[in-house]
Amino acid sequence: MTTHFDATTMLSSRGASADEGAIIRMSQRTRELRAKGRDVVALTLGEPDFDTPKNIRDAATRAMDQGHTHYAPVAGIPELREAIAQKLQAENGLAYQASNIVLANGAKQAINNAILSIIGPGDEVIIPAPFWLSYEASVRFAGGTPVILPATVEEGYKVPAARIAAALTERSKLLIINSPSNPSGAVWSRAELESVAKVIASHPRLMVMSDEIYEYIVFDGAFTSFGALPGMLERTITLNGFSKGFAMTGWRLGYAAAPEPVAKAMARMQSIISAGANAFVQHAAIEALNGQRDDVRLMRETYRGRRDNVLAALATMKGVRIGAIPATFYAFPDVSGALGRKAGNHVVNTTEELCDWLLEEHGVATVPGSAFGVPQSIRLSFATGDAALEKALKRLEAAFAALH
Ligand code: PLP
Repeated sequence: MTTHFDATTMLSSRGASADEGAIIRMSQRTRELRAKGRDVVALTLGEPDFDTPKNIRDAATRAMDQGHTHYAPVAGIPELREAIAQKLQAENGLAYQASNIVLANGAKQAINNAILSIIGPGDEVIIPAPFWLSYEASVRFAGGTPVILPATVEEGYKVPAARIAAALTERSKLLIINSPSNPSGAVWSRAELESVAKVIASHPRLMVMSDEIYEYIVFDGAFTSFGALPGMLERTITLNGFSKGFAMTGWRLGYAAAPEPVAKAMARMQSIISAGANAFVQHAAIEALNGQRDDVRLMRETYRGRRDNVLAALATMKGVRIGAIPATFYAFPDVSGALGRKAGNHVVNTTEELCDWLLEEHGVATVPGSAFGVPQSIRLSFATGDAALEKALKRLEAAFAALH
């Protein structure tokens, strides 16, 4: 006799609760609508619409031909760790050694390596909002407690240091700073980071994870690495990767640089989950860092043009508030002025309802701000072709004008 078996009862609490996230849900719905023949413009994904520059692709091919098709050391190949240490010193003023650097299969994995290495049950992680949604998920996955501190569009979506100080407890262990920011495009100035550094220095065990993956997509003003501030290197885990600036999302390569005990723990975490990052991709990454950067600049200038168009269009839309977007390829307008209004004969009360309506009725896919901890805003990605973007902006303008 066979007994009844139901695989859903097999799921662990992690397996049952991990959420796929709003971006994936909106992308899935976009695919369904397109499969039915609907014309949908997707402004959902944070993915460059450019292919990886040719010199980097060629370097990967060469590396494969040279036999770099075997397991790489867990923390990364020594030549790349050294090249990254030099880059961080020369471009960011960060005095890391190769031994501080751990490569991973994407910055996302580097973030998880870092969080799993230092965060456990009972530990609090301060996450200024809006935030990239994976931070909260990673902290929960590690058993830690996210402490979300929202900032408004009027604050440039940057939480003042005094509010961070007020949120600290003896359980606080990590503050996550993502400058330039996904989803807001905000860049924290040196002065703003210095005020945060004072708060960090006054706490006995607080560290900062500084996610700098958008550093090459800055249009206005200077970018400062948090770890470059006096006394902060030993308190900082610097996160970066190749996906955004070099248009290498599918290659899956990122890294974290940290004080050596943390770096060693990150490598141990990674050895449990996935072993070392792809060997020939790491060889190509040396070319990304040390080769020509014309393509990187060209992509940035293209995003800048789109940023100008997006800002100009959003400024005219009814119920929409937006500040400056000094970096990245995202806009995160506050749309609270559009909520509580009628679309046809039903009232749109939340940004989830607004985003559903924009997608279903106007053919534009966006992401509700609740996914980023700020429910009154929505995120638009302008890492999309110019024609599609223009079409989307016209549709959004018509949609917001139709709310009454
Ligand atoms: N950090 C931020 C702020 C991001 O927006 C992303 C990707 O969207 C990542 C990290 C992850 O990048 P990767 O593709 O290298 O995993």
